[in-house]
Amino acid sequence: MINVSKKCIGCEKCVPICPFAAIQMIDKKAVINEACTLCGACVQVCPVDAIEITREETAIKDFSSYRGVWVFTELEDFHEKNKPSKKLRRVAFELLSEGRKLADELNEELCAVVLTDKNHAFEKELGAYGADKMYLVENPELADYDTDVFSTILISLINRHKPSIALYPATIMGRDLAPRVAASLYVGLTADCTGLSIKDGLLLQSRPAFGGNIMADILSPNSRPQMATVRPNVMKLIEPVPGKQAVVVKEEIKIDKNLRRVKVLERKITHDKAGARIEDAKIIVSGGRGMKTRDKYKYLEELCRILGASLGASRAAVDMGFNEKSHQVGQSGTTVSPKLYLACGISGAVQHIVGMRSSDVIVSINKDPNAPIFNVSKYGIVGDVHEIIPKLTQALKNRLKA
Ligand SMILES: Cc1cc2nc3c(=O)[nH]c(=O)nc-3n(C[C@H](O)[C@H](O)[C@H](O)COP(=O)(O)OP(=O)(O)OC[C@H]3O[C@@H](n4cnc5c(N)ncnc54)[C@H](O)[C@@H]3O)c2cc1C
Repeated sequence: MINVSKKCIGCEKCVPICPFAAIQMIDKKAVINEACTLCGACVQVCPVDAIEITREETAIKDFSSYRGVWVFTELEDFHEKNKPSKKLRRVAFELLSEGRKLADELNEELCAVVLTDKNHAFEKELGAYGADKMYLVENPELADYDTDVFSTILISLINRHKPSIALYPATIMGRDLAPRVAASLYVGLTADCTGLSIKDGLLLQSRPAFGGNIMADILSPNSRPQMATVRPNVMKLIEPVPGKQAVVVKEEIKIDKNLRRVKVLERKITHDKAGARIEDAKIIVSGGRGMKTRDKYKYLEELCRILGASLGASRAAVDMGFNEKSHQVGQSGTTVSPKLYLACGISGAVQHIVGMRSSDVIVSINKDPNAPIFNVSKYGIVGDVHEIIPKLTQALKNRLKA
């Protein structure tokens, strides 16, 4: 609530400062109308402290009925013996691996949520990665992702079972679904978390902020479930436990066809020329501004062919037109976690490092011995990338011939 007290001297300093034009002078006194958003700009300029904002203390709520760590699992299409089928995306296992630690610390269950057209018997795979339960909703309407349908079902499930934590993949689907669920339930959501842990019984959500220059730790003490999205390749997979199976809980939820406001007319799967998506690649050769020109960057394609690698790029390289945005590694690109990451002419800005530091082995080539990329590299080669890459490519070719 905002209030102008009798102290107001009618100086009008607050009128132009208000970004929402919510202050008028009436009878030489400031009067605040309903356009006010409680931003507090007027409070700061008032020379006589006549404007006061009082915020209601959030009532301490009892969240003891909220239990369980949920992971929303995303499915992807594939062909099995020429028949279309669905499989779990790897990020589901990454989230379960992390969720298992959280659930153990809270002494709660870890549950996977699967929304699908027909049961694909995922309980074994999910169980192996730590899921105690699998909430399953099967319905032909769930063959393809739809924001309205999926969010409505998820909201119903959350209201029914009251999990304390809900995790989503920060994929195109997860980034569409999670905010809608959060807004409908009026709960918080922390996007693109790079670390999750438990602090005093609450989910501590860590993520880069201010362009990756600081890490922000976020708690949501006043709402449930505590919700976060996590990018693929950020959380490490645990060793699967063969034979462990999640208990299947089939959920009956009526889906009204009218819920769907979008009709999908055609689906096209585009495969780009560089082969595997960089987020799934086992080996990535990445080039930065140090590659100098698009033609010189293209030399890396031959090395990729020999190594069976995908071609990545720093943001500077993408900005210079060396490759498409879908190949950009980093905070505003894709997070990758290959077995081998070869960084060529990349300085190692924090925004690049956050997208590749979980690679198993990082090898860097840079002419500057003090380049920060060497701080995260297992092997560093100080030298001119334009001399080293042709030699490396030739050496690998010779080895293949031998
Ligand atoms: C909000 C935000 C988001 C961002 N997101 C991303 C992101 O997702 N991904 C990303 O990569 N960046 C991102 N950036 C940009 C990031 O800050 C850096 O500007 C960028 O990573 C630099 O790219 P680079 O290393 O290729 O270029 P530079 O920093 O210019 O480094 C070039 C390197 O090449 C070396 N070099 C030059 N010539 C040679 C040679 N002949 N041989 C060997 N080495 C050579 C130089 O020593 C230097 O270290 C983001 C920035 C912001 C603010």
